[in-house]
Amino acid sequence: MSDLAFDCVACGACCFSRHPRYLVLLPEDQARIAPDALPADSLFEEGGRSFVDFSCGQCTHLGLETGQALCAVYDHRPEACRAFRAGSFECQKAIRANGVMGEKVRAVPAA
Ligand code: SF4
Ligand code: SF4
Repeated sequence: MSDLAFDCVACGACCFSRHPRYLVLLPEDQARIAPDALPADSLFEEGGRSFVDFSCGQCTHLGLETGQALCAVYDHRPEACRAFRAGSFECQKAIRANGVMGEKVRAVPAA
């Protein structure tokens, strides 16, 4: 399948997870991201590391209101998000697991 088939704004699957520690900030993020670029209430600390809040089954920075999957902090998004390539094995795995627009995650109520 061509990469052209993978439209992130129409997908957003990799921005969903029921795993609370799905998205960790790496040391590169701590060094690069301005302190106020990711609001403190969008993060939590555990074991000396910072994680982005996924408590509602999706990234707290993901906006779906327009019918598109839009990252509210795109210019400041963590390294893990930057490294996630549309059309990659991990991308296709996320789509299979979570569904387009996270439909499979959203179908399961939070525990
Ligand atoms: S799962 Fe793939 S196509 Fe979907 S938003 Fe993530 S990188 Fe883009
Ligand atoms: S920071 Fe942006 S790109 Fe990364 S998981 Fe959250 S919404 Fe998706």
